[in-house]
Amino acid sequence: MTKKSITVNGKKWIPTIQDWSWIITILWMTAANLWHPFGLFGFVCMFTPVIIALSGRGKMHCARVCPRGSLIGKIGSIVNLGLKRPNLYRKKWFRPLLWGVMMGSFAVMLIFVITQGVDTLGFAVLIFMETATVLAIINGILFTPRQWCTICPMGYTSGNIRSLRKKLTERRMKIVKE
Ligand code: SF4
Repeated sequence: MTKKSITVNGKKWIPTIQDWSWIITILWMTAANLWHPFGLFGFVCMFTPVIIALSGRGKMHCARVCPRGSLIGKIGSIVNLGLKRPNLYRKKWFRPLLWGVMMGSFAVMLIFVITQGVDTLGFAVLIFMETATVLAIINGILFTPRQWCTICPMGYTSGNIRSLRKKLTERRMKIVKE
């Protein structure tokens, strides 16, 4: 992982902070378990990759920032069984399906808890994020350390935003040339 800032497609990428950003996940989960409203910080974790991708920086969050990616990288580098990645993960439909299941269940959960106060809402977000983190850690131990990143819904979202932005830019360039 490079520690220098670089320019990708005309946008500056920050140097990586993933050698220590795993601490953010540990601190946040500890604090949110002690004080549930702090669980709402989970929205920051969810929307940061989206905002960065919308800014034209593609998957800079995944490559340079993501605290969960950093955590699973650390754990997977200590404990890793190196099993073969399941064929299921290679299927084209698997990532959109997982995205739909996870985002859909998150949306349904929000609908149920949004009126129940900040404490319940924060706790619900925390549980959702903890579940995703446990799945990511299990994948990292069983397969490769950052295996989760190949199927992660947030990574999938930011990748799709990057592709969409690229297509729109290409279309604009084509129209300008005509
Ligand atoms: S794919 Fe998901 S877990 Fe991996 S670095 Fe990106 S946002 Fe984080």
